[in-house]
Amino acid sequence: MSGDGKRVLIAGGGPVGLLCAWLLGRRGIPVALFDDNDQPQADPRAATTHPATLELLADDGLASDMARVGLVAPIFQFWDRPSGKLVAQFDHALLKNDTRFPYVVQCEQFKTAKLILDHLHTLSNVEVNFGHTLTGVVQCGDAVTVRVRDARGETKRTGAYLIGADGGRSAVRKECAIEFEGFTWPERFVVLTTPYDFDAERGYCYRSYFADIGAWCNCFKVSADGPPGLWRTVYPVDPAQSDDEVMSDESVQARMQSFFPAPQPYEIVHRNLYVTHQRVAARFRQGRVLLAGDAAHVNNPIGGMGLNGGIQDAANLSGKLAQVLLDGAPERLLDLYDRQRRTVAVEFVQQQSIANKQRLEARDSQARKHNLDELRATAADPEKARQFLLRTSMIASQRRADAMTLEEV
Ligand SMILES: Cc1cc2nc3c(=O)[nH]c(=O)nc-3n(C[C@H](O)[C@H](O)[C@H](O)COP(=O)(O)OP(=O)(O)OC[C@H]3O[C@@H](n4cnc5c(N)ncnc54)[C@H](O)[C@@H]3O)c2cc1C
Repeated sequence: MSGDGKRVLIAGGGPVGLLCAWLLGRRGIPVALFDDNDQPQADPRAATTHPATLELLADDGLASDMARVGLVAPIFQFWDRPSGKLVAQFDHALLKNDTRFPYVVQCEQFKTAKLILDHLHTLSNVEVNFGHTLTGVVQCGDAVTVRVRDARGETKRTGAYLIGADGGRSAVRKECAIEFEGFTWPERFVVLTTPYDFDAERGYCYRSYFADIGAWCNCFKVSADGPPGLWRTVYPVDPAQSDDEVMSDESVQARMQSFFPAPQPYEIVHRNLYVTHQRVAARFRQGRVLLAGDAAHVNNPIGGMGLNGGIQDAANLSGKLAQVLLDGAPERLLDLYDRQRRTVAVEFVQQQSIANKQRLEARDSQARKHNLDELRATAADPEKARQFLLRTSMIASQRRADAMTLEEV
């Protein structure tokens, strides 16, 4: 194959597409990436990066860079909102023999994307094209051609493979008519960000989950522009409330006060509202087209697994594409990518993120008591707590994927 015949096209310049570009580009593979925004997204969505993901980012120094610009958080807590009591605390130190990273790193996803972009600027074989929207995909023989629109009009680009890393509404997935199986939650999720110091004022650690009757809150700290940092609180929103109502000062203050009563109104620096889905693409591979990140799977953010799963896709897929393109490995390896990452998405991430939500929001008093007692008992037993942490830190799912072989596809 000539250099150009090995080109990988990537739709989407979120953290997953950018990471694919870096992991392929640093092996000398030509890459052309297209993103429809004029510049990298500034959306403050993901922050929590789990040990299994940090392992994958370690070689390039990205894990340590993220820790430098973010916050290291070894502990997370579960609280009961009605009683105000701490239910359970988990310390990643229990994973000291399972990972080099017995902690999560809280690094906002726009910072992660910027760190990867800084690496990409050192590679002459990678084109990063912002302001370019993918509008069509055609596969033919040993090539895939995309139509791309920019301010000057529409052009075609051809490559050996196309990675659809173009987010939950993926045009690539739709062009390939791949079903996005699952459901949408009726409630939206609102994120309210405040400089109020929940650690100093209330003793909450950097990641705290609050259970309530039919409701919940995630409260976690990000470093933002530097000390003292900001706290993001995430809540479910009644489907009957309009967006304007949810975002009004009155409703925002009432929501904050209902979980965290305080004598003063809260200073709110950001408010964001999200529709949330639990969906997995029916296939992650269709011929020369591969899906990764939110284009392949989406889930609610409780437990912080969406982007982690996407980064794990990027590492798995880029490694296999490099083997196919550079070492003559069989294309069947790409079916193993589909098998490994789809299994993890369905059996772990969907299952765990739905369970995380249901555990926090149970209404029935018996069910609430059972959930909280179970968390207490798990935290009190070091081996049970370690097993729990292996799942929350996504080490168990990585091990499940690593154990799958080509013979299984
Ligand atoms: C409130 C909230 C909190 C979250 N917290 C966490 C967390 O703590 N940890 C975690 O792991 N995950 C978290 N997530 C999930 C995380 O934000 C997503 O999983 C992540 O953004 C996925 O990255 P991506 O690169 O796959 O997709 P995206 O970030 O959506 O990037 C896709 C890119 O493709 C571009 N694009 C779309 N269509 C086209 C097209 N036709 N042509 C060209 N470009 C196109 C888009 O504009 C975008 O730039 C959270 C999500 C929310 C909503």
